Amino acid sequence: MMNMPKIVDCNAGECAYNKEGKCHAIGITVGGSEEPMCDTFWNNSRKGGALDMVGGVGACKVENCAYNQSFECGAKGISVQTHMSHADCATFKQR
Ligand code: SF4
Ligand code: SF4
Repeated sequence: MMNMPKIVDCNAGECAYNKEGKCHAIGITVGGSEEPMCDTFWNNSRKGGALDMVGGVGACKVENCAYNQSFECGAKGISVQTHMSHADCATFKQR
């Protein structure tokens, strides 16, 4: 059985779901066209999400990552870091 991997940290402070380096979206989706991008990233000064919870990876579309299993993330946890004007999964490992 798969468990939802936690987002250990995220430095996208401008994201609505980010508070003090932690993600509070219950489940993010990862997977852009060419990068392992956090699709849930939302640049907004208003803060939201479940502040009493640490977010997890709900789904991942990055098939060429070694941790990807049937479009889900099989890593123990992931780290997310800003890249240009979006945020990427820094745990991505080329298959
Ligand atoms: S960029 Fe993604 S991982 Fe980071 S806080 Fe926002 S939704 Fe969460
Ligand atoms: S580690 Fe790989 S499978 Fe998991 S969220 Fe990041 S890119 Fe997707």
